[in-house]
Amino acid sequence: MKAAANKIVSLLYTLKENNEQGPVIQVTPEDKPLVFIFGVGQLLPEFERNINGLGKGEKYAFSLKSSDGYGEKDPEAIVDVDKNIFVIDGKLAEDILIVGKSIGMRNDQGQPMTAVVLEIKEDTVKLDFNHPMAGKDLHFSGEILDVRDATPEELDHGHVHGPGGHQH
Ligand SMILES: [Zn+2]
Repeated sequence: MKAAANKIVSLLYTLKENNEQGPVIQVTPEDKPLVFIFGVGQLLPEFERNINGLGKGEKYAFSLKSSDGYGEKDPEAIVDVDKNIFVIDGKLAEDILIVGKSIGMRNDQGQPMTAVVLEIKEDTVKLDFNHPMAGKDLHFSGEILDVRDATPEELDHGHVHGPGGHQH
């Protein structure tokens, strides 16, 4: 069976920044492969395009331009926020305000977002809400471990059941 729309694909991957020689950003542990429904928007479209048609045991390696990855950095996603929002019980949360650290925030609609602290100033904190991999070329390599048909229930729920997925 080959990776295609509505198949459940299990794979291992190594993500490197820029190219094959770049620093390793992410590696799936051998016992915790990525398991997903192919073709329903769970992964980057260009990632799926590159592994389309591969079967169990096949290896892959390819690069993606940042525009096909997590997009370009948006200057408007870098904002200065009032330092007071980090005051908890009258005390500045210095343990989370560390340059380079990712912090969990919520937007106006209450949805979770992640921001990286760029700079801590007198009254404000400069935060970068861009995806950490925005503006970077990506290199993926790995192996397809398994491909199977999705059950009607999995397609209905929009996620994988069983090993590597939801247990219910
Ligand atoms: Zn479910």
